[in-house]
Amino acid sequence: MSILGATTNELRVRLERGDVTSVDVTTAYLDQIAVHDAQVQAFLLVDRDAALEQARDVDAKRQAGHAVGKLAGVPVALKDVVCTKGVRTTCGSRMLENFVPPYDAHVVQRLKEADAVLIGKTNMDEFAMGSSTENSAYQVTKNPWDLARTPGGSSGGSAAAVSASMAPLAIGSDTGGSIRQPAGFCGVVGMKPTYGRISRFGLVAYASSLDQLGPFASDVSGAALLLEVMSGHDARDSTSVNVPVPEYSRSVDEPLAGLRIGVAREHFVEGLDREVEAAIRTALDVYRKLGAEVKEVSLPHSQYAVAVYYIIAPSEASSNLARYDGVHYGHRAKDFSNMIDMYSASRGEGFGTEVKRRIMLGAYALSAGYYDAYYLKALKVRRLIRQDFDQAFQSVDVIASPVAPTPAFKIGELVNDPLAMYLSDIYTLSANLAGLPGICIPAGFSGKNLPIGLQLLAAPFQEERLLRTARMFERETDWHKQRAKL
Ligand code: GLN
Repeated sequence: MSILGATTNELRVRLERGDVTSVDVTTAYLDQIAVHDAQVQAFLLVDRDAALEQARDVDAKRQAGHAVGKLAGVPVALKDVVCTKGVRTTCGSRMLENFVPPYDAHVVQRLKEADAVLIGKTNMDEFAMGSSTENSAYQVTKNPWDLARTPGGSSGGSAAAVSASMAPLAIGSDTGGSIRQPAGFCGVVGMKPTYGRISRFGLVAYASSLDQLGPFASDVSGAALLLEVMSGHDARDSTSVNVPVPEYSRSVDEPLAGLRIGVAREHFVEGLDREVEAAIRTALDVYRKLGAEVKEVSLPHSQYAVAVYYIIAPSEASSNLARYDGVHYGHRAKDFSNMIDMYSASRGEGFGTEVKRRIMLGAYALSAGYYDAYYLKALKVRRLIRQDFDQAFQSVDVIASPVAPTPAFKIGELVNDPLAMYLSDIYTLSANLAGLPGICIPAGFSGKNLPIGLQLLAAPFQEERLLRTARMFERETDWHKQRAKL
């Protein structure tokens, strides 16, 4: 089998056996990028020489008989939201066009310790604000299944990279669905772990109480392995939780007996595309055949998730993005007459339209007189959303739903209608508001041959259960084996 068609596990086995070297593997992916990325535009930065040097180092380590890490010689793409020491990190923004971090994010350290090969930085919506990767200041990433459509967002570059076989694994961040929705649109596996599972140290902040990093892969086992490498306590992130990290990659193949799957009646309402609904119902039948019990649950406050999220996330963003003042970081305007003018000109030039919109929404929701009516109210409803899940998880192990109401939409289709764009996050936001882990796996195709994603959610720190549940489905289906033809 070709290198590009192999799963992460197959790659690891072949590397271990010495059938291929990391230089072979890395070269194959770099060549795929060289041939196809002019079209797909998944990457903002690829340093061929640096990647090959890492690959040579791992090969030498292995050949010398030294112990190697869990991802030894396997290429991983990084969303440009994680700091990479000495390597430009733009966050998709002009504001950080020339920002070269002096340190690595925690997850980047982890990848290096695992001997992974960092193959490049991927495109994203500016500061991770968006659902289509159209808000990048640099380029619009295309969906490998249909180049006229978006790959979803904000981690669209990472999803497209894995989908187009430009990397076997990638890292994304998910504040309101930014890993799961693009995974669904691009037909790959994407997972957002429990809030606190992975350190956010070195992740450029968007909305700190919601942000979480996570893996992309072409199959569930690959995602399990990358999650295992990324997870764990880190004292530099005070919200990183000190809970042992199970060996997800070992248990992932064990099916669960007596599985109870919840289906929320609020998830199957108007606005849900018929083909998406049919694919989800078919997926539930697959689980029934495997012996799972499918039960109805209720998430009565989920109808408020979009409204609550689009108050809380912009509020936190308006505070987090105050650091870009033209002094501490990033872009500074050339022409200004006084300090206030310098701030506003720098921010005016450095930020794009959507980022400015979020800052204004957030600053408004937090301002005196409106704080109680908007921000405080949103926090209360957030709590109710979490309680709905706590209640539901008393009687079910996982909750299944679509990942998005439609398959991938066209580039330009929603860009002038922010509300319609925000509504596309309807199925993903609740997991962030409640801090829950969620995974999206390929579950079919539309009549136009666009991937459809199945989302599974679980109670906090139930990643293992989620991965095993996802793997049960994957084993029975071959949706994940389909690759986009470029
Ligand atoms: N689409 C959502 C937003 O624009 C989610 C983004 C994300 O998860 N980073 O805020």
